[in-house]
Amino acid sequence: MIKDIVIVGGGTAGWMTATYLKASFGDRLAVTLVESKAVSTIGVGEATFSTVRNFFRHLGLSEPEWMPRCHASYKLAIRFENWREKGHHFYHPFERPRVVDGFSLADWWLHEEPSDRFDQDCSVLAALCEAKRSPRRLGGALFEEVFEAGEAQDMARAVPKGLGTQFPYAYHFDATLLAQFLSEYGVERGVRHIQDDVLDVRLDQDGFVSEVLTKDHGPLAGDLFVDCTGFRGLLLNKALGVPFVSYQESLPNDSAVALRVPVDVESRGMRPCTTATAQDAGWIWTIPLLDRIGTGYVYSSAYTTPEEAERTLRAFVGPEAADLPANHIKMRIGRSAESWVKNCVAIGLSSGFVEPLESTGIFFIQNAVEQLVKRFPSTRDDESLRRSYNRQVGDVMDGVREFLFLHYYAAARSDNAYWRDAKTRAMPDGLAERLEQWRCALPDENSVFPRFHGFEPYSYTAMILGLGGLDVRPLPVLGRLDATAARREFQRVRDQASALIDRLPSQHEYLIHQAAG
Ligand code: FAD
Repeated sequence: MIKDIVIVGGGTAGWMTATYLKASFGDRLAVTLVESKAVSTIGVGEATFSTVRNFFRHLGLSEPEWMPRCHASYKLAIRFENWREKGHHFYHPFERPRVVDGFSLADWWLHEEPSDRFDQDCSVLAALCEAKRSPRRLGGALFEEVFEAGEAQDMARAVPKGLGTQFPYAYHFDATLLAQFLSEYGVERGVRHIQDDVLDVRLDQDGFVSEVLTKDHGPLAGDLFVDCTGFRGLLLNKALGVPFVSYQESLPNDSAVALRVPVDVESRGMRPCTTATAQDAGWIWTIPLLDRIGTGYVYSSAYTTPEEAERTLRAFVGPEAADLPANHIKMRIGRSAESWVKNCVAIGLSSGFVEPLESTGIFFIQNAVEQLVKRFPSTRDDESLRRSYNRQVGDVMDGVREFLFLHYYAAARSDNAYWRDAKTRAMPDGLAERLEQWRCALPDENSVFPRFHGFEPYSYTAMILGLGGLDVRPLPVLGRLDATAARREFQRVRDQASALIDRLPSQHEYLIHQAAG
């Protein structure tokens, strides 16, 4: 029987795993987490996916309990700047286009082209980002005032069940504060927390991990080991020798430099979205938190140097960046061939990672721990559970790789070698055929990456129509149909967006109110 779990690593992955397991199994499972004081965590990872709300819900945590402690803010979308051309921007919102007369509003948009901004014509969230609004109001029902019956339910489909009618949204947070918060939560619920260095990983005669040897606490034995040691992959890759499959051929960004920039958030305002600004050799993220912005340049070392990347980032931030220490990070892009081998499961960066363009790192962790609980074995020998876990976790990362590849391939920008090469790079298997389909019919559930990877067809549509580099044609059949209802819907989106802007507080105002309790 599996009774004792040992987690090595106390970054976001380690603490999300420990707390999720405790919330799932309570005292029926003993959880020990050992983390090194000497080896620091990656120190970035601040933007999330809308499914992250399921994680906090599973832990029984309400927003006022954890958000102020982690300097968290709301995220309704990703804003892409300069991906088409310098000065252009668009949003990838967490909002599915509505359906009008059996066709997606996105199809009608391509046919009617009411403006050059798909995101603003088809989504209310784009306007809320522009206006720096909070997705939540200070008391009182909101949806019923602005949306018709049924419409609010559609909007809320992407929201975890049980949260009621709300916008689909995610969070930004300070990853270090979140790990601290979760460690308190975990320890209060019985997680044994050891601060020590793991010096060695011992295997038994069958090749299973029997114990990890720590510097001051001696050997720690367990039935199941979770490797959350980050890019080091101490247990899975190093001790068990599981190979790492690189995605570098299709996703060349392998480095980042990050800054934490204290700013006057009140006067600056807080756009409720992550911003990804295209650069000559990658892109810069900007993430608004309650007391600062998190920012960093993700780049390919084949196209620029760390010094040049840091200079670019500092110039982008401006005088506020002066004297701030920069964190240079070398990224391992790809995934372990299998994330669960013998009695060792890798979760987090040790399992796999793609550049944070769509904020998928924490989503990978959440997915992995949910799948682990679902397939939790009775004994350590259950090969079929391991196989099905590995397939699911591998598919999620492979699917995200393809979606990210599309970002560069479909970007109209091609003003230097970095952006031109993105159009000729080796494509992930199957994408060429899918691209052919999307040219004549926007992505739907039958034409995107066939297995679950977190992104729905509307995300592909938002990116293709925003990036502007892929020739897509409207459906010819729409020319034979009456477009009156679709035109009315474009107007309704505009009206609803301005009604929401009138009624919602600024994000900063809402968060200050929340923090004050
Ligand atoms: P780490 O944070 O590296 O933690 C490793 C842990 O292992 C540490 O506690 C360390 O002490 C411990 N350890 C290592 N060796 C030993 C040892 N010998 N003994 C004991 N303990 C040991 N994800 C998102 O979802 N959104 C984002 O916006 C985002 N941005 C990112 C930007 C960049 C540049 C990068 C590189 C990643 C980003 N990520 C993002 C990914 C995200 O940061 C990670 O998925 C997340 O932080 C999990 O990291 P981790 O816990 O796996 O590893």
